[in-house]
Amino acid sequence: MTANPFLAPSPLPFGFPDFDAIAEEHFMPAFVAGMAQQRAEIDAITDGPDAPTFDDTMVALERSGEVLRRVSAVFSTFVASCSTPGIRAIEAEIAPQLAAHSDAITLDPALLARIETLLADPVERDAESRLLLERRHRDAVRAGARLGPAEQERLREVNAELSALSTDFGSKLLAEAGDSAVLVEDPAQLDGLSADAVSAAARAAAARGLDGHLITLVLPTGQPALASLTDRALRERLHTASTSRGARGNEHDTRGIVLRTAAVRAERARLLGYPHHAAWVVEIGTAGSVEAIDAMLGTLAPIAAANARAEAAELAAEAGYEIQAWDRAFHAERVRHERFDLDAAALRPYFELERVLRDGVFHAAGLLFGLRFSERDDLPRYHPEVRIFDVFDDTGQLGLFVADLYARDSKRGGAWMNSFVTQSRLLGTKPVVLNTLNIPRPADGEPALLTIDDVRTLFHEFGHALHGLFSDVQYPRFAGTAVPRDFVEYPSQVNEMWLDHPQILRNYARHHATGEPLPVPLVERLHESRRFGEGFATTEYLAAALLDQAWHRLDGSVSDVERFEADALAAAGVDVPIAPPRYRSTYFNHVWGGAYSAGYYSYIWSEVLDADTVEWFAENGGLRRENGETFRREILSKGGAVDPMQAYEAFRGRAPDIAPLLARRGLG
Ligand SMILES: [Zn+2]
Repeated sequence: MTANPFLAPSPLPFGFPDFDAIAEEHFMPAFVAGMAQQRAEIDAITDGPDAPTFDDTMVALERSGEVLRRVSAVFSTFVASCSTPGIRAIEAEIAPQLAAHSDAITLDPALLARIETLLADPVERDAESRLLLERRHRDAVRAGARLGPAEQERLREVNAELSALSTDFGSKLLAEAGDSAVLVEDPAQLDGLSADAVSAAARAAAARGLDGHLITLVLPTGQPALASLTDRALRERLHTASTSRGARGNEHDTRGIVLRTAAVRAERARLLGYPHHAAWVVEIGTAGSVEAIDAMLGTLAPIAAANARAEAAELAAEAGYEIQAWDRAFHAERVRHERFDLDAAALRPYFELERVLRDGVFHAAGLLFGLRFSERDDLPRYHPEVRIFDVFDDTGQLGLFVADLYARDSKRGGAWMNSFVTQSRLLGTKPVVLNTLNIPRPADGEPALLTIDDVRTLFHEFGHALHGLFSDVQYPRFAGTAVPRDFVEYPSQVNEMWLDHPQILRNYARHHATGEPLPVPLVERLHESRRFGEGFATTEYLAAALLDQAWHRLDGSVSDVERFEADALAAAGVDVPIAPPRYRSTYFNHVWGGAYSAGYYSYIWSEVLDADTVEWFAENGGLRRENGETFRREILSKGGAVDPMQAYEAFRGRAPDIAPLLARRGLG
């Protein structure tokens, strides 16, 4: 029996996890030992001298839970990126225990008394230390510190149940995604699909021992193949498979979880003295109130829905029949082709993964921030496809960047950033950040050619990675992306601006076989076509955001998921059948399985800041090192160590303006 690798610091550079030594059986004992360690550390704090000091309480609290930090970071990556039945079983068992453990610390009365004593102490403290006290205190109040014992007991039960529900949702959705893939027996039906999409479908079928072609589903409602399949019947089948996920009455049905989660979240909010879950959530966002969210979404919804209806009429004219949701992408692609002489497939040879990564994403970070990247292959990895890069700036090595880019069955859908190690001056740690994507793996020997959406995702996720890499904070609590949810997408969205910046695009968009740059007319048309289809895209997004808000403002009980959804969309004015929500309730992982409940509005909230920042770059000479440095210093390095809107106003010199966003989305 080898020693459990999580119990001691990793011997590898930057605390990189020693994956060669890590096995599934290490997780459970490490979680148990990690919780016991942290509990003992908290007890040592509260057993300390009666008069607390900042060091013996707050600093000790920030340092606590080292084993738990290590095991949790690796485990969450296994859950998301190399899930097995064993991992899922551990997750189901440990998630409620971790929730209870963390609640017990947040609500510890002796610890809270010490924090309150320190808060009341008029001594001068640096801003980050003051904020740490305020945030820890707010956490406690929000978690029920002011409730009586019976209510606290109920709260503990509720939190444990919510944690289990969330895990259950994630597992069911993953299983359902596999089960919902569409098997095509007649290859003639695949007409229109690119050759590599056809071969990917053949390989997907073969991998499951099936005859024919298997079209696997991506997480949002819109399936990529819908843009090119000429067979209407197959399009309808694919769309139906997508939109009925989680609502088919099989063992992966999520409707019960949705109803129960919404009801329990509502109960928790009432217990804590809030009218609904959304009010509890928005309190810690930059939006500040549900009225502010409503004002923003309410401004956009009617214009977006009107634009979507106008776009639908245009497409119907082109198609010559009344088109349905599953026909939309196909005809949009044809109109785009006619009007802009641009089709998505013609661009892909110019977007080869390696070039996009090195000559696009990394290159832009070099010009803006002076970053350099060097791939290393001496560190162990959790999957052979994982790649690891040293990241340097002018002053030395910042940390490590890990890229896990290809789709596989054991990985959940979507794209995200997370960390194995977060930066903290207190702990002396430098960041080890990951970007995980789901790019279809090319056939052996073939280049990985990306769609423009994949390119955008790569730039986007790298924006989160920069937020983690540039973090320069004292306390781990505030590291990198530990900012409010309605702020966290802002740096990543800003980073998308470089993907079609002429200087960057020219550098990376080269034909994979000939090396020729993307022809200038194509670039121009790419720019012209940007606003095409924005009515649909905005409506789909807003429908999901408004649906999320509706689920989290319940004041009565709900028993029918589909009816609630239809009513909510109609009430918000975004019931446009041709543009269904980007996620329907039963596969809305952000809000039931992820951390975005009542927070899906955050993307467009962040985009206001993003569009306003794109203006700032334009006003200040665009792609210049000085601009990158300013953005890094004022926003990216701050993590959660300052109030985000104060940071924004310090950077921009004024409050954010919504006009650039309206112009960008054709809603002005
Ligand atoms: Zn993001």
